[in-house]
Amino acid sequence: MHKKLLSEMVKRQIEARGVKDKNVLKAMREVHRELFVPAKMHGSAYEDRPLPIGYGQTISQPYIAALMTELLELKGNEKVLEIGAGSGYQAAILSKLAKKVITIERIEELAERTKKLLKKLKYNNVLVIHGNGTKGYSKEAPYDAIIVTAAADKIPYALIEQLADNGVLVAPIGPSYQQELIRIRKRKEKLETDYHGGVIFVPLIGG
Ligand code: SAM
Repeated sequence: MHKKLLSEMVKRQIEARGVKDKNVLKAMREVHRELFVPAKMHGSAYEDRPLPIGYGQTISQPYIAALMTELLELKGNEKVLEIGAGSGYQAAILSKLAKKVITIERIEELAERTKKLLKKLKYNNVLVIHGNGTKGYSKEAPYDAIIVTAAADKIPYALIEQLADNGVLVAPIGPSYQQELIRIRKRKEKLETDYHGGVIFVPLIGG
């Protein structure tokens, strides 16, 4: 039953809104969102919206997860850093499109839960770290791609520092009630920015 809901979700919510990257669409079809939401939310897993995952946090709307992934332009050999592991859904999608994913979560219980879930589901190229993502994770830097899945007024400097040359960073930037999805490309220490529409994320804490 949910396979049909999943393929409808990708067709109507993601492809229909303009996400074109075949590999991203394939990954979206392969990652079953219901596995990443609490049992009581299973019936809503394929709806076109963020859902609560406990601790006051959310799993992103599928379209936004797909759009942010597409903006990273992954080819398969990248090391990716995610800030805000949350449910692990975005990390699972990234793990299918990159070589290695490091994802940081500030809420310890959520980090532990997500670590266990991703291990059980055999997403073996994902490393879940409990910590403050505004500092990045220098141990594994530099990163070919960085994705921030919580909202901030500006991009934490550590993340720019840990981005590789020609690396791409995608983040929701702006006040708590609405942000703009921005993409930054680092070229020889210069930053090029493009803009990808309004979004609403829970806040990035501890910047
Ligand atoms: N990517 C997640 C997913 O696929 O489920 C959704 C992320 S949720 C919208 C934002 C997450 O960022 C929350 O789990 C929150 O606890 C986390 N967060 C907020 N500030 C953080 C910080 N400084 N470092 C790491 N995680 C942070």
